[in-house]
Amino acid sequence: METLDKNPARKTLGSYFRHEGTITRFSHVILMILVVEDLAARMITPQASVDFVLLAVQLALYAGFILAGALKLKESDAKDQDKGSLPDTIARIAEIVIMTVFISLLYHGPLFYFVVLLPITSIILSRGFRESIRFLVPGWLIQALSRYTVWMFFSGVTGQGFHSNEGQLFISVTVQYLLFAFYCYILGSVRREYVRSQEENQILIDRLGDKYVQLEQAKKEIQSQYDKISQANEQLEKANNKLTASLAEFYTLQQISQAISSIFDMNELLKFVNDVIIGVMGVSHSTIALCHGPGNLMKVQVSSIFDKKELALVSDYINSDVLKPSVKDGNSMIDNDASPEEYPFTRGRNIRSLICVPLIAKGNVLGIVLIEHSMPNAFSNDNVRLLEIISQQVGIAIENARLYQQMHDLATLDGLTGAYNRLYFQDNLQIEFKKAQEGNYDLSFLIFDIDHFKKFNDTHGHLFGDLVLKNIAAFIMKKLRKEDIFARYGGEEFVILMPHTSLDQVVEKAEEIRKGVGSLVISDRVISASVTISIGVSSFPETADSQVSLVKSADDALYEAKRQGRNRVCVANTIIGKKE
Ligand code: GH3
Ligand code: MG
Ligand code: MG
Repeated sequence: METLDKNPARKTLGSYFRHEGTITRFSHVILMILVVEDLAARMITPQASVDFVLLAVQLALYAGFILAGALKLKESDAKDQDKGSLPDTIARIAEIVIMTVFISLLYHGPLFYFVVLLPITSIILSRGFRESIRFLVPGWLIQALSRYTVWMFFSGVTGQGFHSNEGQLFISVTVQYLLFAFYCYILGSVRREYVRSQEENQILIDRLGDKYVQLEQAKKEIQSQYDKISQANEQLEKANNKLTASLAEFYTLQQISQAISSIFDMNELLKFVNDVIIGVMGVSHSTIALCHGPGNLMKVQVSSIFDKKELALVSDYINSDVLKPSVKDGNSMIDNDASPEEYPFTRGRNIRSLICVPLIAKGNVLGIVLIEHSMPNAFSNDNVRLLEIISQQVGIAIENARLYQQMHDLATLDGLTGAYNRLYFQDNLQIEFKKAQEGNYDLSFLIFDIDHFKKFNDTHGHLFGDLVLKNIAAFIMKKLRKEDIFARYGGEEFVILMPHTSLDQVVEKAEEIRKGVGSLVISDRVISASVTISIGVSSFPETADSQVSLVKSADDALYEAKRQGRNRVCVANTIIGKKE
C-alpha cells in the first residue's frame, strides 16, 4: 500500500500514451488508403491524370511519415512519458507537417484534412482539450498555407482537384477544422470525466490505504494488548499455582496440628504424620526416627518401608555419620543426586533424591524425618521448608507428649518409691474389680506394713528409713507381673492388686514377698539393716464379694498378722504363715 503512486494525473497520462501506438498505426493505414484512393481517383476521373512523380513524392512522404511515427513511439517508450524529449517533439511536428503536405498533394485532399489532425488526438487524450487548441489553430494555419502553396506550385499536377478555387478550399478546410474542434471537445470532455473518476478512484484508494494503515495500527495495538493480557494471564497462573501450593501446605499443616491435638498415642501420631508426608509430597518412602536413652541413639519409630531386610538396613545406618548433619548439628539435608555408595541404607531400593530434617524442640534434637524419592532432582527448597515446618510441629508434639508423661507420672506415681500412689490405686481398684466381676475371674489383694518401723526410724534415722522404703519397693516391682498394680497406700504401708490370681496363688506370692523382704540387707555408707513385714491377703470371690470388702478383709487380716506377732501372712479369717 505504501508504494501507491500519489500522482493520479501522471498515471492517467501514462495510460493515454499507450494509445499512441494504435493511433499512429491507424494513421499509417489511413494514409496508405488515401494513396490508393488518390491513384484510383486520378485514373477514373476524366480531367485528372496519373502523375508518377507525384506518386513518388506521395510514397516518399508516406515513408517519412512512418519513420517519424516509429521515432516518436521509440522515444515515448524510452523516455519519461510525461515529458516529451526533443527528438520526440521533432517527430511529432514532422508527422503533422508530412501529413499536411501529403493531404495537400491529394486529388481529394481537402476532403481528408481531418486526417492531418489525427496525431493531435493523442495530445487531447493525454493533456485535454485546452492543451490541444494551441496545436489545432497553428495546424489549421499551416495546413491552409500548405494547401495554398501546393495549389500554387503543383497546380499543373493537381489542378484538376476536387476544389476548383481558393474559396471552396478555405470553406472546406475551415468546416473540417470546426468539426474536428468539436470532436476534440467531446474527446476532451470524455477524458476529463475519465481523469476525474480516476482521481476519485485514487482518492478512494488513498483513503482505503489510510484505513488499511489505521487497521494495521489497530491490529498491532490489539496484538500488544493481547500480549499484555497473555503476560498477565501467565503471572496470574503462577500466582494461582503458588496459592494452590500454599493452600495444600496450609491444609497439610492443619491436618497435622489437628492430629496432634486429637491423637494422644505418640506412635499413632507419628504414623499419621508419616502417611500425610507421603500423601502430600508424593515421596517413595518416609521414615521417622526418635532419639532414645542416655546415648541419644536413634531408633526407627515409623516407616513406609515394609520389607524387613530393607528396614533393618535403615535401622543399622540411622545412627551412622551419613545423617550426622541432621542428627548432631540439627541442620536439614537435601541431596537430589543420591547414590547407595553415599547413603548405604538406600541399597537395593533405587533411591535418587532424599531430604533429612531434624525434629527439634527447645533446641534439642529429638529425632529425624527422612523422605526418599526414586527420581533424581525430585526435591526443591520448598519441600525442605514444608518438611521443616511439619518437623517443628511434630517436635513440639513429642516434647508435649514427654511433658504429659512427666505430669502423668507425677500425678500417679509416688515420688519416693516409684510405686503408684493411693489415688491411682483407688481408681484402678474400681476398674479392675468391675472387670473381674464381669469377666468372672479371680482378683486378689495384698496389703503389707513394715514391722516396728517407728522404732527403726528412731534407731537409724528417717533418711535411712526412706532408703529402706525405696529398696523394698524396687525389690517387689521385680517380683510382679505387668498387670499387677503395686501402690504405696500410705506411710510404710503398701498394697498389691493382682488380677487373674486365686487366693492360693496370692498367699504363695505373699509368702515369697515376706521372705524376700525379710532377707534384704539395706546398706548405706555406715548402716546395714533389715526389716520384716506383715501381710494381709484377701481374694475375690473367695474371701470378699465387693471392692470394699476386698480391701477391708485384707486390712483386717494384716491387723491379725500384727496381733499374732508380725512377720507373717494372714488370710482373711485364716492364718497361713507362722513366725519363723
Ligand atoms: P507396727 O509394727 O505396729 O506397724 O509398728 P510401727 O512402728 O511400724 O507402727 P506404725 O505402722 O503405726 O508406724 C508408722 C511409722 O512409720 C511412723 C513413721 O515413723 C514411719 N513412717 C511413715 N512414713 C514414713 C516415711 O515416709 N519415711 C520414714 N522414714 N518413715 C515413715
Ligand atoms: Mg503402719
Ligand atoms: Mg508398721
